[in-house]
Amino acid sequence: MGGYLNDAEHDILLGPEAIQARVRELGEAISRDYAGREVFLVCVLKGAWVFLADLARSLTVPAFVDFMAMSSYGNATQTSGLVQIIKDLEQSIEGRHVIIVEDIVDSGLTLRYLVDMLKTRRPASLKVCVLLDKPARRVSQVPLDYVGFEIPDAFVVGYGLDYAGRYRHVPYIFILKPEVHPT
Ligand code: 5GP
Repeated sequence: MGGYLNDAEHDILLGPEAIQARVRELGEAISRDYAGREVFLVCVLKGAWVFLADLARSLTVPAFVDFMAMSSYGNATQTSGLVQIIKDLEQSIEGRHVIIVEDIVDSGLTLRYLVDMLKTRRPASLKVCVLLDKPARRVSQVPLDYVGFEIPDAFVVGYGLDYAGRYRHVPYIFILKPEVHPT
């Protein structure tokens, strides 16, 4: 798995084949559940863009894609609980079958805020698809309709997830060693 990083810097949690296989399964499940309908995928930037790209291409139902950006961790690895919309959707979701596509759920605060806010815009339906579920530090419960993997309480990067803007392009998910990200 060399070529991206120094071996001393990482511990691989999910390899590229495992991720690709699971994303394909999620795409198949969504395609089955939404047969005959168009889905409106809400990609939560920036962390979900790699997941969205693979998930969307594994769908066999028609899909519309729009993007939203929320404030999140910044350069730290702890959530502040403060959520803010930095970039809103460009299209109305009223009457649409919306699926929020998120990279990871940790405290659940970001997703809770997003779900409550999007519900007020009267979509026909609203579901949540997350690649990674980190239940250990959950403080706000949000039903997760599609989950890629449940993972332990560790700070992970790769496949869209960053630390201070880095590692998003890495095609696997790994745990950053604490000495690399002092918290
Ligand atoms: P929550 O509001 O659920 O605590 O946090 C959600 C956001 O925090 C995610 O969308 C992601 O941006 C960030 N986050 C949570 N856990 C991790 C992690 O292990 N690694 C990275 N890179 N970001 C994380």
